[in-house]
Amino acid sequence: MKPYLRDFIPRTLSELPEDTSYEAGYLVTKNAGWRSIRPVINPEKCVGCLQCYLYCPDGVIYKWNEDAGRGKVAVDYDFCKGCGICRRICKTGAISMVDEKQALAQEASQERSGQHG
Ligand code: SF4
Ligand code: SF4
Repeated sequence: MKPYLRDFIPRTLSELPEDTSYEAGYLVTKNAGWRSIRPVINPEKCVGCLQCYLYCPDGVIYKWNEDAGRGKVAVDYDFCKGCGICRRICKTGAISMVDEKQALAQEASQERSGQHG
């Protein structure tokens, strides 16, 4: 299946869709299983320039609701392949590539403490 391209052409950053930059129609199954590193965004350093959102080759970065107070972009980890292009394009150093196994262990630990907390 070919990627679906949006008909609407945004003229400003605020006109870009809230979800990912384009519909990744060819990503029909989760493909993150073989990722060895993952991008982690530091909301303190993120200025919302959306360059990572625009450059991600799989279109898996989406605009995060600023009202939620968690930064301006987020990554859909179900589909991120860990290529690191977003880290290279980010001028403020807001993106770090983190070892996937360590990130999964940390998530599991947080889930466990959430269940018992
Ligand atoms: S490129 Fe960096 S500063 Fe710009 S939106 Fe992405 S994470 Fe934020
Ligand atoms: S690591 Fe690659 S696939 Fe994952 S969000 Fe960054 S640019 Fe997109």
